[in-house]
Amino acid sequence: MTSPAPIALFDMKAQQALIRAEIDRRLASVLDGGRFINGPEVVELEGKLAAFAGCAHAVGVSSGTDALQIAMMAEGIGRGDAVFLPAFTYTATAEVPLVLGATPVFVDVDPATFNIDLADLERRIALVQAEGRLRPRAVVGVDLFGLPADWPAIEAVCARHGMFALDDAAQAFGAGLHGRRLGRWGGAAALSFYPTKTLGCYGDGGALLTDSAERADLYRQLRTHGEGKTRYEVERTGMNGRLDTIQAAILLCKLPLMEAELAARARIAARYGEGLAGAVGVPSSTPGADHAWGLYSILVEDAAARARVQAACQAAGVPTGIYYPKPLHHQPAYAAAHAGAVAGGPPPLPVSEMLCGRILSLPMHPYLTEEEVARVVAAVRAAA
Ligand SMILES: *Cc1c(COP(=O)(O)O)cnc(C)c1O
Repeated sequence: MTSPAPIALFDMKAQQALIRAEIDRRLASVLDGGRFINGPEVVELEGKLAAFAGCAHAVGVSSGTDALQIAMMAEGIGRGDAVFLPAFTYTATAEVPLVLGATPVFVDVDPATFNIDLADLERRIALVQAEGRLRPRAVVGVDLFGLPADWPAIEAVCARHGMFALDDAAQAFGAGLHGRRLGRWGGAAALSFYPTKTLGCYGDGGALLTDSAERADLYRQLRTHGEGKTRYEVERTGMNGRLDTIQAAILLCKLPLMEAELAARARIAARYGEGLAGAVGVPSSTPGADHAWGLYSILVEDAAARARVQAACQAAGVPTGIYYPKPLHHQPAYAAAHAGAVAGGPPPLPVSEMLCGRILSLPMHPYLTEEEVARVVAAVRAAA
């Protein structure tokens, strides 16, 4: 018996086959035009990204990480500032405040949504305020796996304390909440176009979405070394954070597929949910949210069960991933910052720690076939 072809955790090929001729045409046009930096494709993409999200401005940047950094630089975040963010997220969310000299304050997450826990956020803001050493400056809400965080609540907390609400939407482009897509929540949203994200390029890329014209201007200035009215006037300290023209051209080919791809992701997530409910913990959306299903992550009993399910899946040609095996406050690079954020050490982060031992991500991309989804379900059910 020949075994069936392995399933991809993320798709790189099926989508490309659909648009390969358009990609070739667009790339040839960039090569002919020769404007590899700030070419017309970048401006065209920015307009289309803003239209897609329904926001006023999009600014293309070099990665999701740089999008976060530019957004924080624009707010003047640095030494003495506390930036509140979930302990259960990708490393970039915490790295940026540290690079800018600010202190990340890790917040626990909700066990059902995997997103920042509002009660724990309030508690940690109060601790930092009571101590008076760091200034609470920003909350980074992460829309983990594509599910929007509780933005109305995050915005309310930020308004109450005079803090900046930054949306790390790197995993969630296309998602929305109460009829508003990400890009219109918080002061700005940071997107990543890393190849495996819901909208991915063929290299590194990112964007900032905002309704604020003032912020969009600042982001454009900061991504170009803080240059002023002329190229040789440096008005503020910036960085080289531009989006390549070639990557913009790739994204212009992919963006028209987005609506159908989001619908396909939702359909696949529903199938997984039906097939796996009762056997493992399955993720769900929240009221009013349009989940982008960037990743489909289940919860199994414990780390031993996870190892068992992973091995069984691998034997059945079903790849899995662990996002994330370690909460950020346990990472060697961040442990000291975490310990020092609150005198005597901050309160524990039990949900983030629990999730890291039990989370498991299944193949998720818009081109999974019914047969592949059924194979994934069967492999997980057999071992769970
Ligand atoms: C991918 C990701 C980033 C960073 O994006 P890059 O484009 O890889 O720099 C930031 N935050 C989260 C939550 C991510 O998943």
